[in-house]
Amino acid sequence: MAFLEERKVALITGINGQDGSYLSEFLLNKGYEVHGIIRRASSFNTSRIDHLHLDPFAHKGGRFHLHYGDMTDSSCLVKIIGRIKPTEIYNLAAQSHVKVSFDLSEYTAEVDAVGTLRLLDAIRTCGLENSTKFYQASTSELYGKVAEIPQTEKTPFYPRSPYACAKLYAYWIVINYREAYNMFACNGILFNHESPRRGETFVTRKITREVAKIHLGLSQCLELGNLDSKRDWGHAKDYVEDLPVTDVLQFCNVLEAKGPYGNIVNLKQIKRNTMHKVFFMPSGDYMVMFIVIGLLYELGLSNFVDIEPTHIINLFFNLVIFSTTPEDYVIASGETHSVKEFVEAAFRHLGKEIVWEGKGVEEVGKEKRYWNSQNKNQPQIFSTNRSSDASKAKAKFNWSPKVTFPELVKDMMNSDIELMKKNPMA
Ligand code: NDP
Repeated sequence: MAFLEERKVALITGINGQDGSYLSEFLLNKGYEVHGIIRRASSFNTSRIDHLHLDPFAHKGGRFHLHYGDMTDSSCLVKIIGRIKPTEIYNLAAQSHVKVSFDLSEYTAEVDAVGTLRLLDAIRTCGLENSTKFYQASTSELYGKVAEIPQTEKTPFYPRSPYACAKLYAYWIVINYREAYNMFACNGILFNHESPRRGETFVTRKITREVAKIHLGLSQCLELGNLDSKRDWGHAKDYVEDLPVTDVLQFCNVLEAKGPYGNIVNLKQIKRNTMHKVFFMPSGDYMVMFIVIGLLYELGLSNFVDIEPTHIINLFFNLVIFSTTPEDYVIASGETHSVKEFVEAAFRHLGKEIVWEGKGVEEVGKEKRYWNSQNKNQPQIFSTNRSSDASKAKAKFNWSPKVTFPELVKDMMNSDIELMKKNPMA
């Protein structure tokens, strides 16, 4: 397969979602031209990417472009792909909420399943099947009623929601097009990953928002469903760290922060395209890297960019860029925690321990709070527990998670406390 290596043009569907926003920052920092598809909405829906979209300096030279489109409209997908001819497509668009998929089952299938097919077909219609790499955001929800613990790439699927069924179709159609048309297409089977940018309707964000409000005296209680439901909650950041690209960045940050050469080599002032070359040095070869960086600095390369590793999703990029052959990978932290543990960690961060009493009452510090126990109207079928084994991705990309569960909760809590202080109505 021959690829257009000289062009770096990414198309991201779901660009204004949690992952899409992080991926945009990451790709822009790597010098990509980034295009994203957004849906027309009756109110603003670009808050996660406004800093890239409205600030001309954030996207350095107008390399960030948004297009109106929809995964349910194949003609717009063909037009956008035909016009921009992306070298990489990251399909992150989805009706991504499991519970909502029970209410919007047909629509979820249209977007998550058939939408993926539309996108793959649009690539073929535009004659780009041998020059465009394709990444599909697949999900641990495919495992549903778990038959095997932990789950790997070989664990049989048993989807238990319209969302998971739709994503299962997408998973297989990606493999089918890879094999039938020799396309470079891969699935990342992602376990839950959270961050301050997580959608407000997802349980982790619901917890951190409400606990922040309780902390600030803006709310009295938090209502939750199944407290015993367990998930593998990674930090979105961690889907980056220890991968080949971030090895370099981490090294740079360490040097800059406290290394003996930190004053000589201001690594935040290494020219962008120079950094790109450095990026691809073998991971772990730190001394060689340092010498090269030092030399470049001495040569006076100094026009400069911030090379902060943005959060997330570099792993998507690694799956697409560093893989020599397209394959499918489980991406997960390997640790599971219950919803109850998440709540406890959120309060612990505020210095308050919870004493759970029976089903609905507990103590928060010295105060009593009342909580809902199980919501009987909620479909419980999807609430099976998860346990992951991401050793294939770990071996391939030398990756292991760094952010601990309490750190993840802390990051989200701090962000929501700040948010609520600024805007109590948020
Ligand atoms: P979000 O829900 O935050 O983002 C979903 C994105 O898809 C939004 O930008 C949304 O746009 C867009 N979208 C929804 N419907 C359509 C449509 N019909 N046409 C075009 N765009 C549409 O999800 P995340 O960023 O958290 O997740 C990214 C992907 O990864 C998703 O596919 C998700 O299913 C998958 N995934 C995520 C996991 C996680 O823990 N975060 C775990 C496993 C898989 P709008 O703002 O207009 O609604």
